[in-house]
Amino acid sequence: MDDCLFCKMVSGEITPDSVYEDDQVLAFRDINPQAPLHVLVIPKVHIATLNDLDDDQGPLLGHMMHTAIKIATGEGYAERGYRTVINCNAEAGQSVFHIHLHLLAGRPMHWPPG
Ligand code: 5GP
Ligand code: ZN
Repeated sequence: MDDCLFCKMVSGEITPDSVYEDDQVLAFRDINPQAPLHVLVIPKVHIATLNDLDDDQGPLLGHMMHTAIKIATGEGYAERGYRTVINCNAEAGQSVFHIHLHLLAGRPMHWPPG
């Protein structure tokens, strides 16, 4: 999608601080980190919100989650703990409309989230 920030990262028009890439997903450090580790895992295909996920895209979502697990493990947070979040639409605080899985780790986190 032409005017999508994260599609521009997938196409290479913008170069993020990448930590992982394969044929389905790209993972990069958040520009405004909310924890010592704050990575965004995005699908390479444009999906605006979770509401736009097709029934057959469950495996892609699973792959995004496995990617986050591997990054968290690689960075040493598997036992200590980490959080994964996908915000959907305004009340959840979604600001970039290309789905992204937040991976946060490296500090104590509270529940419920704000
Ligand atoms: P949302 O609020 O949609 O769940 O999360 C969007 C995230 O994208 C935010 O955490 C924000 O800091 C991050 N973000 C926005 N613009 C950029 C950018 O240009 N580069 C990177 N690496 N992250 C961005
Ligand atoms: Zn996009």
